Amino acid sequence: MLIKLLLVIGVIAAVYFFFIKKSTPLTKERHDKKRKENDDETMVECATCNTYITTSEAIISSSKFYCSTECRDKA
Ligand SMILES: [Zn+2]
Repeated sequence: MLIKLLLVIGVIAAVYFFFIKKSTPLTKERHDKKRKENDDETMVECATCNTYITTSEAIISSSKFYCSTECRDKA
């Protein structure tokens, strides 16, 4: 009877730790993805031609965003 009880506790503990281990990397990945989106994929408008580009692609000059150096030079 006691052995059966310990076995049940052991199985519950195993399942519990299995889910903890499995959910931790997923949560981390989701956080990384969210942070990456915020860093690289925010859409901004080119001040010259009104094209939308991501902040990682944009050229920033005088606190304005431009899609290319040509648009920056035109401004
Ligand atoms: Zn432009």
